[in-house]
Amino acid sequence: MSEQSIKITQQDILEFIKKKSSVASPCNVCGASDWVLQDLHGIATTDKSGQVQLENLAGYAVVTCQSCGNSRFFSMRTIVAKLSSSA
Ligand SMILES: [Zn+2]
Repeated sequence: MSEQSIKITQQDILEFIKKKSSVASPCNVCGASDWVLQDLHGIATTDKSGQVQLENLAGYAVVTCQSCGNSRFFSMRTIVAKLSSSA
C-alpha cells in the first residue's frame, strides 16, 4: 500500500486524537480542555472533498490548547497506521 492510496480526512485525524484519553485530559499548563488540530502544512494537504493527501509521513499532527498555546504532537505515521488498520 502506497502512502498516496491512504484516504483519510482531517476530521478522521481529529477524531482519532480525541479518542485518546491524553488529548481529552485537561491541559497540563493551564487546565483548559479546548484542544484544536493545527493546520497540517508540510505534512498533508486537504483536497476539495476534505480528504487528506499525505506529503510527509514522518510529520506530526499538532493539537494546541486554545487557552494557553501548549501543544501536543502526534506521529502521522502512527495515526495513519491505526486508521488504516481499523478501516
Ligand atoms: Zn493550556
